[in-house]
Amino acid sequence: MYKDSKRSGIQIRRKEIITLVLILIIEGIFVFINSSVLSDLYAQRVKETLKQDTIFVKLLAKDYPHEKYKDIFENSDLRFTLINREGKVEFDSKNISREEYMDNHLQRKEVQEALKSGEGFDIRHSKTMGETFAYYTTTFKNNYGEEFVIRTSSDYEGVQSEIHKFLAIQIGFFIILNFAIHLFYKIYIKRDFYKKIGKMKDFLEKGENGNTNFLKEEKWFFEFWLVLKEWQKKNLENISRLDKERKTLSLIMESIDIFIGLIDKDGRFVVKNGVLDEIIDYRRDRYIEALKYIEIIDVIKKGIAGNTELSEEVYIQSIKRYFAVTVKKLEFSSEVLLTIKDITPSKQASEVQRTFISNVSHELKTPLTNIKGYLIALEDAPDTMKKRFLTVIKENVIKLENIVSDFLNISKIESSAILNREEVEASALINSLNAALEMIVKNKNADISYDVELKNGKTTLKIDKERVITVLKNLIENGILYNENSPIIEVDIKELEDRYTFTVTDNGIGIPIDEQYKIFDRFYRVDKARTSNLGGTGLGLAIVKSIVEQCGGKITVKSVEKSGTVFELYIMK
Ligand code: ADP
Repeated sequence: MYKDSKRSGIQIRRKEIITLVLILIIEGIFVFINSSVLSDLYAQRVKETLKQDTIFVKLLAKDYPHEKYKDIFENSDLRFTLINREGKVEFDSKNISREEYMDNHLQRKEVQEALKSGEGFDIRHSKTMGETFAYYTTTFKNNYGEEFVIRTSSDYEGVQSEIHKFLAIQIGFFIILNFAIHLFYKIYIKRDFYKKIGKMKDFLEKGENGNTNFLKEEKWFFEFWLVLKEWQKKNLENISRLDKERKTLSLIMESIDIFIGLIDKDGRFVVKNGVLDEIIDYRRDRYIEALKYIEIIDVIKKGIAGNTELSEEVYIQSIKRYFAVTVKKLEFSSEVLLTIKDITPSKQASEVQRTFISNVSHELKTPLTNIKGYLIALEDAPDTMKKRFLTVIKENVIKLENIVSDFLNISKIESSAILNREEVEASALINSLNAALEMIVKNKNADISYDVELKNGKTTLKIDKERVITVLKNLIENGILYNENSPIIEVDIKELEDRYTFTVTDNGIGIPIDEQYKIFDRFYRVDKARTSNLGGTGLGLAIVKSIVEQCGGKITVKSVEKSGTVFELYIMK
C-alpha cells in the first residue's frame, strides 16, 4: 500500500517535470523565433540606412577620380570604403591615407556578393575594430571609368545590445511567468484540490448525514456522489449476495461428514471445513503439518504430482479406520481439491454382513444336519425309538423356525427406522405380552408381575407398540429360559419427563461379569452348547438393542451369577 502510493507519487512528479520541460522548450522556441525575427528586422533597417548612405556617396564620388575622394570625404561622418576589383582598398573614410596598410578585401563576404550580383550585405565582428559591424556593398563606376565596390558600414554593437536586452527581458518575463504559474498551481490549484478532496473524504465518511451543503456547492461532486452511491449500492448488494453464498457454502461444508479442503500451490489450505478432527489439526495451514497420518499425506503428494484425479482407500492401523481420499486438480485455478471420507462404518457394515451370512449358514447347518441324521436313522429305527427321533426332528424344526423368525425380525427392524408411535393402554400392552408368552410361561411355570407408573394418572403410553412388545418379550423370555428355578420375572414400567424406563428383573442363572458386554452382539451366546439346546439363536438381545437405539434410548445389564439379571432400558417419548 505504502509502496504503491510512493510509486504513484513518483509518477506524478515525473509528469510534472516532463510538463515543465515541454513548457521550457516551447518558451525557448518562442524566444528564439522572436529574437531572430527582431534581429532580421534590425538588419533590414540597418541595410536600408546603409543603402541610403551608398546613394549619397555615389552621388558625390561620381564626378571625381578616386585620388580626389580624400578631399571630398575628409570631413564626412559617413563610414565607407572603396575597393577596386582586385580587392585593394582605394579609399577608406576612417583610414584616410593609411589605405595601403589595409588588408586585401577581395575575400570578404559582402565584396564577393557585390562582385557576383551587384549588391552584398554582412554583419560580423571586425577583428581590426574589435566590434560588430554591418556592411553593405554595391558596385560603382565613376565618370572616369574607374570601377569600385563601395562598402558602407555602421556600428552594429548598439543594435546587438538592444536585441540582447530584449532577449534578456523576454527570458526574465518567462522565468517570472513560470514561477508565477508554478506558485499558482501549488498554492491555489493544488491546495484547492486537496481541500476539495479533504471535504469529499469527510463527506464520504459521514455519508448523507454529513454536510449536504457541500453537494449544492459542488455540482460535479453531486453527480459524482450519485454515481458513487449507485456503485456502492451495487457493491453492497454483491457483498451481501456473496456473504449469503459464503455462509450457505460454509454451512453445507460443515454439515457434511466429508472433509473438504482446497490446497494452494504452496501446500497451504485456503479453505477447509471442520470435520474429521481425529486426523486433521485445524490450527495448522500447511497440509503436511495439518494431517496427522503419513498414509494420507502420501496419497495427497501423489495426487498433486499426478495429472489425473486420484482416489484411494487408506487404512490407518493405529486408529483402525478406513478413509477414502480423493485429490483433484482444479481446471480453473492452480488449487487442488482434497476430500477425505471416513468409510469405516460402511467397511464395518459389509464386514458385519459377511460374518452375518456365515453365521446364518452356520446356525442353520446344525439343526439341518440333525434333522437329516435323524431322518436317515428313522428309516431303520425300531418302533420304540421312532417316537424319540421324531421328537428330536420336531425340536430342530422349531429351532429352524426360531432362527428364521429372528433373521426376519432383525432385517425388518434394521430396514425401517420409522417409528409408529401411538397411544397404547398399559393394560393392552400387558395383555399382548402375556398372550405372546403364554406357552413358555406354562411350560416353565413362570410368574410375571408388572408395575406400571405413569405420570398424572394416565393409563396410556405413547410408544411403537410392536417394537416395545418385541423388546419386552425377548427380555422376559430370556429371564424365563435362562433359569433353573421357578422363574419369577418383575417388569417395571415408568414414565419420566422425556422418556419411559423399563426394568426386567429375573431370578435366573445370571451372566458372568466378563461376558456381560458381549451379550448384545449378534449370535453371541454365553454357553453355546447349553443355550443352543434351549432354542436360542443369539440374536434376541441384538434385536432388542437395535430397537432401543432406534427409539433414542439405551439398554444396560446388571447380573449376578446364580442369582439373577436386571435389564434396564429407556426409550425417548
Ligand atoms: P438367545 O437367542 O441365545 O437367547 P440373546 O441375544 O437373547 O440370544 O442372548 C444372548 C445370550 O445372553 C444368551 O445366549 C444367554 O447366554 C445370555 N442371556 C440373555 N439373557 C439372559 C438372562 N436373563 N439370564 C442369563 N443369561 C442371559
